[in-house]
Amino acid sequence: MSLEIIQDKCTGCGICLKACPFGALTLEMRDKLGLPPSKFKRIVKVEVSCTLCGACVPTCKFDAMKLDKPEAAAPADRPLDAYRGIWVYVEQRGGHIEGVSFELLAKGRELADQRKTELVGVLLGHDMKGKVDELFARGADKVILADHPALAGFDSDAYADVFAELVKKHKPEVVLAGGTSIGRTFIPRVAIRVKTGLTADCTGLEIDPKENLLLQTRPAFGGNIMATIICPNHRPQMATVRHKVFKAGAPDPQRKGTLIEEVMDIRAGRAKVVEVIREMTNEINVAEADIIVSGGRGLGGPDNFKLLFELAKELGAAVGASRGAVDAGWISSFHQVGQTGKTVCPKLYIACGISGAIQHLVGMSSSDTIVAINKDPNAPIFDVADYAIVGDLTEVVPAITKVLRGE
Ligand SMILES: Cc1cc2nc3c(=O)[nH]c(=O)nc-3n(C[C@H](O)[C@H](O)[C@H](O)COP(=O)(O)OP(=O)(O)OC[C@H]3O[C@@H](n4cnc5c(N)ncnc54)[C@H](O)[C@@H]3O)c2cc1C
Repeated sequence: MSLEIIQDKCTGCGICLKACPFGALTLEMRDKLGLPPSKFKRIVKVEVSCTLCGACVPTCKFDAMKLDKPEAAAPADRPLDAYRGIWVYVEQRGGHIEGVSFELLAKGRELADQRKTELVGVLLGHDMKGKVDELFARGADKVILADHPALAGFDSDAYADVFAELVKKHKPEVVLAGGTSIGRTFIPRVAIRVKTGLTADCTGLEIDPKENLLLQTRPAFGGNIMATIICPNHRPQMATVRHKVFKAGAPDPQRKGTLIEEVMDIRAGRAKVVEVIREMTNEINVAEADIIVSGGRGLGGPDNFKLLFELAKELGAAVGASRGAVDAGWISSFHQVGQTGKTVCPKLYIACGISGAIQHLVGMSSSDTIVAINKDPNAPIFDVADYAIVGDLTEVVPAITKVLRGE
């Protein structure tokens, strides 16, 4: 496999350099024709950091780049058409089904309908049979239940073993799981065991109507671009999605489905849980809140967060923050919204002094209603806002609080 620069065709224009996401192309002066140094020709050089991604090749107007990359093919022992059905890993903690699973069942339903296949919820736990009807009500056609005392609490080894065995046995086409601490821990191990790829923290999932592939969209290169990733040669196509990226559908208690109970020989994992300590906080968690008042560097300092807490109190809201404010040390990372913080989808999101960097937007732009307060009329946050208030937040926020207090 190689990327070849055809020297006779390369004009040294340098356009391909800009297309390389890895900075693996450089220009060098070459003496091709035995001319004096002043007449040396500029030619593109491929550095060792080239990943052979091929992004540069279509940008060359002179056909001077040749990528020699053999076509990947599906493994002969695992033909792609043997895989059918959309699976959702149904996450439970302490016997309680996590909201992200309902969101994924709603999205999975859409994908299954498009693919004209079945939606399957896969539940691992102990004494969970009572929860199965809820999964049918949320759109599952089938539920695969692995019920065993060793699966009562999360155990990465045991969960990865069981889930991988189920995938090998039933051969789903797509597997979706929450991008939670549990999903992030064992789902990559499942992907390795079943020899397929995994796209983490997707913000969009669609079916390509031509190729029937799952289009998995997520921020890439530090959030500067949105990349759509496909897994054309291996199955299942696996993706994790964070809480609140998709919306849960309304349950339909009339829906019924088929329960498949799997009796499995389960090895206890290597880790032993000594004690579970639940996070204690009096503050409303932004990930769960219906209303969020969020602050950024435009607050000018930690003291102005007081204005946001006062407004949040009147609205029964949680207080969120941009990474700018968190990195400045004005508020804890518990409040951070965005790519490296929490993904939120409240009914109302009020962004105060937040510019609207893409890494912030990916975490909140699916909120139902967005109000942005910024003194810069050209701030990018206004591009996603339903209501734009151009003004100084130190005046606007207290004025809103006053109205809500009826003062
Ligand atoms: C890999 C990576 C991951 C990241 N993850 C996240 C993430 O999860 N979440 C996140 O938020 N960011 C994240 N970032 C950082 C992101 O790129 C931005 O730097 C950050 O969001 C900027 O925060 P800000 O909007 O508060 O600050 P700024 O961009 O400095 O914006 C401040 C805004 O306040 C306005 N303003 C100033 N004074 C006032 C006033 N008195 N009244 C009203 N408006 C005022 C200004 O006009 C400006 O628009 C990430 C970056 C990278 C590279």
